[in-house]
Amino acid sequence: ENEEMGQLHALPNRTKDGQPFELLANCFGPEDIDTAMQSGAQGVGLLRTGYMMLPGRILDEQEQYFFYCSCLAAAQGRRVTVRTFDFGSDRTISDAYQGLQSSKLGLRGIRNSLRQPRQFETQLCALMRAAARGPLQVMFPMVTTVEDWDAAMRVVERCREHLRERGVPFKEDTKFGVMLSVPAACLTAEEFVAHGVDFLVVGTNDLTQYTHAADRELASAEHYYRPASSAMKKLITMVMDAARERDVPVTICGLAVGNPANTVQYLQLGLRSFSVSPQNLLNVKKALREAET
Ligand code: PEP
Repeated sequence: ENEEMGQLHALPNRTKDGQPFELLANCFGPEDIDTAMQSGAQGVGLLRTGYMMLPGRILDEQEQYFFYCSCLAAAQGRRVTVRTFDFGSDRTISDAYQGLQSSKLGLRGIRNSLRQPRQFETQLCALMRAAARGPLQVMFPMVTTVEDWDAAMRVVERCREHLRERGVPFKEDTKFGVMLSVPAACLTAEEFVAHGVDFLVVGTNDLTQYTHAADRELASAEHYYRPASSAMKKLITMVMDAARERDVPVTICGLAVGNPANTVQYLQLGLRSFSVSPQNLLNVKKALREAET
């Protein structure tokens, strides 16, 4: 079986009927990015940043900049999509440090970042500086309405002004996207496309949880937690239809995508870009190569 997996590595990412697909990895930092690249990942589809902490404090701009640059180096020129802090989901010591409630239906992700503009600006400045050093793009988690997107992009604009004033090199046209994990955002995907998102990422872990009102961590809700249900398919189809209008790229990520039975269903909904844990890359590749669109 190992031999078979070894050979798989060298084979192209194409379905049985010849459609190309993209395989990316969900990572935490340079070490697992390295592992993912060795398994043939074409990039990092989700870099979680809530773990990038020192005991008791969040890294400053320069420290974050070095961290993002080391992730780019580990990705060896391949694209890295960074998710801004998702405290409340990313488990960190700093949740406690910040005194956050970590409520799944409360202050999470972008909601928290918009309430902590200094911390958000620090992260965005570090990210836009790193984007000048390699193919890095940025996405916001837990976005619910286009107002969240517009508010986040106003902070981005402020960061551009700061960086220009400081005369620091950065990428003016860094790409920004939205992680779709809230049903309301999927139902209004066309508004995000109209408001200029550069890309969309469907986050199946949270989207399943919020669509089915089934806590992803509660065994007692497991029966209701169905990442490829007809409800999920309807939401994903709405996203795909909206994205197609303006050629906005869509990636799908989350644990469910690492399960080949689901991945093939997502392929058949039109998805061609998949982001999975490094250890699932080859299994998913095998299943997609045997699948038809
Ligand atoms: C997701 O919601 O699908 C996802 C991958 O995010 P998390 O890091 O919260 O699992």
